[in-house]
Amino acid sequence: MLRCRDVTERASELLDGDLSLRGRLALRFHMALCGMCRTYLDQLRKTRALVGQSRFSAPDRAAEDALIARMVGGKDAD
Ligand SMILES: [Zn+2]
Repeated sequence: MLRCRDVTERASELLDGDLSLRGRLALRFHMALCGMCRTYLDQLRKTRALVGQSRFSAPDRAAEDALIARMVGGKDAD
């Protein structure tokens, strides 16, 4: 039987659909018996859904440099 550590290591593969039928069955069997791993997988699924919906993206390099310069009081600051 899988251990909780095995579940955490394979959780992303499960959510990505990359696990074999045998792997999925082993995980599902463990989760049927383990509330902690059910909670962990539920949280991971929700987190991935939220990150996927995010409308924010990283600023480009020039914008990031300008922002940092303003924050540290560089010569670009108004
Ligand atoms: Zn577990």
